[in-house]
Amino acid sequence: MSTTPRLFVDAPLAEGAHITLPREQAHYLINVMRRETGAPVRIFNGRDGEWQAVVSEASRKSAVLAVESRLREQTGVPPLRLCFAPVKKSRTDFIVEKATELGASAIQPVITRRTQSERVRTDRLMALATEATEQTERLCLPDVSEPVTLERLLADWPQGERVIFCDESGEGEGAWGGPEGRARPMLDVLQAEPDPSGSWAILIGPEGGFDEHERAHLRSLSFVRAVTLGPRILRADTAAVTALALWQAVLGDWR
Ligand code: SAH
Repeated sequence: MSTTPRLFVDAPLAEGAHITLPREQAHYLINVMRRETGAPVRIFNGRDGEWQAVVSEASRKSAVLAVESRLREQTGVPPLRLCFAPVKKSRTDFIVEKATELGASAIQPVITRRTQSERVRTDRLMALATEATEQTERLCLPDVSEPVTLERLLADWPQGERVIFCDESGEGEGAWGGPEGRARPMLDVLQAEPDPSGSWAILIGPEGGFDEHERAHLRSLSFVRAVTLGPRILRADTAAVTALALWQAVLGDWR
């Protein structure tokens, strides 16, 4: 028995409501998942929890769902924003999908001085995040924003939010990292935070890393927590997954 399809619908959900699916969702449900009239579907809209529905009309080009009963109350995710410099397309796609599975509340592409891939198709990233939300049994979509520059991101930083700055600096001068040397281990930084409640963000740089001006500026800010993710250079996607997992394990909703 294959699992019941789970779909995000942008419509109010209540018993007896009928929802006409957009073309591409109807195509997926009817032609790809081969569901027919009467088939059960689980739906959510990010506000009203998850509901049981059934296919009430089905054709090759359209589908209507009849909403029956609520299966789960609405729940959110911890206030954890992933800010990352876009890298090459397949790895950026991977970062967005894993950030969604790992419970990021928001995904913010950031253009740094060494960012290569400045063009980001936000609508495509939102579609990826929606698909990952359906798969991972989340009830809320992450907010996926248009890219901003690192300067703008920091200038508009929300009051009270702290950021885990993943700083690849090694010891002292040399090929990678600045004079400040390696930052403190992320686990130590999280566990040393006097009051870890409230909003957090994670900041990941591009393939070429942060430059020394960015690093010095970041380390000068009171809301920034510079951390090392160990003695090896991780790819940006590896670093994103690693930092998100560690934050969820220590401060997030994995307990
Ligand atoms: N500057 C490196 C590549 C940076 S990796 C080089 O030239 O090869 C991309 C991003 O992943 C970094 O900017 C940083 O945010 C994160 N990252 C990678 N390895 C890390 C580590 N060991 N500690 C902390 N952050 C790391």
